[in-house]
Amino acid sequence: MSTSTDQRARRAVGAVLGSAVGDALGAPFEFGPEGAFSARFPTAGYGGEMCGGGGWDRGEATDDTQMAVLVGESLLEHGGLHLPDIFGRFRRWAAADPKDIGLQTEDVLTNGEPWDLAAALHFQVNQRAAGNGALMRAATSAVYFAPHGTGATMDAARRIAALTHGDRAAWEGTAVFHELVRVALAGGDPLTALPGILDTVHPGHRPRYAVVLAPDWHPDRATEFNGAVWPCLGSAVWALRTTGSYEAAVRAAVDLGGDTDTVAAVTGGLAGAVYGAGDIPERWVEPLHVPLPGWRGRVLRAAELTDLAEKLAGARAG
Ligand SMILES: [Mg+2]
Repeated sequence: MSTSTDQRARRAVGAVLGSAVGDALGAPFEFGPEGAFSARFPTAGYGGEMCGGGGWDRGEATDDTQMAVLVGESLLEHGGLHLPDIFGRFRRWAAADPKDIGLQTEDVLTNGEPWDLAAALHFQVNQRAAGNGALMRAATSAVYFAPHGTGATMDAARRIAALTHGDRAAWEGTAVFHELVRVALAGGDPLTALPGILDTVHPGHRPRYAVVLAPDWHPDRATEFNGAVWPCLGSAVWALRTTGSYEAAVRAAVDLGGDTDTVAAVTGGLAGAVYGAGDIPERWVEPLHVPLPGWRGRVLRAAELTDLAEKLAGARAG
């Protein structure tokens, strides 16, 4: 491989592995208060942070990563986007009683409606579907579609998001994440690219994203719980903007409290794409494991996730 191809692959692995590690690091702190992580682990680089708790084993990734793996494996097996197949994998997984599943996602995957109607019908009845549950699982698809360019990767993000989330706000946030990852994998600065990315957001949703993605926005200014898509994405971008390493970004994300596994999964996906897999602390990668309910006890470890990411990036034959 050429140096630039090698760097691109390291960033692609960084996005997928970084998201999974953030998920597992944040899981024990879910629904906790702001500052809980830094109170327990005041010094970066000290060790022991991948601690488990709240029903999660040390290093165990949650639904965020489990669903990201399902999406990634579908893309590889079909050589592209096969929405009914992704939906079928989600349903099989949901039926196997995963430890955690988003309320919205569970409803859509268990209401018995066909893949192209389930989310829309749920949104019609509930009128609330702007959770972060589509954004949280987007690292694998972001890597896969990055070489296809801005329009194609953002469109793919919207379509995969729409499988479970009927609110266009969730599609747009996921599309922004895909494009941020695309810029990072190409060696660019996603933060510099943000104003241009905002121009590609659906006009009806642009103002709200412009607020949470602005350079002066802080998670304290969120008007919803960070389980919603806007503050979740805003917090991840804030964590990336205000730190200088993968470890510091993900620490900042978990320390916000609330939906810590998902905010850290999104942050870790972005930071991993920017800094590359080599910047993710080995002591966090080593205990990482991703159980896959519905797949006969399958558990992916870092080596399998790395392999998946490299295949998604086209760095090795699928
Ligand atoms: Mg989760």
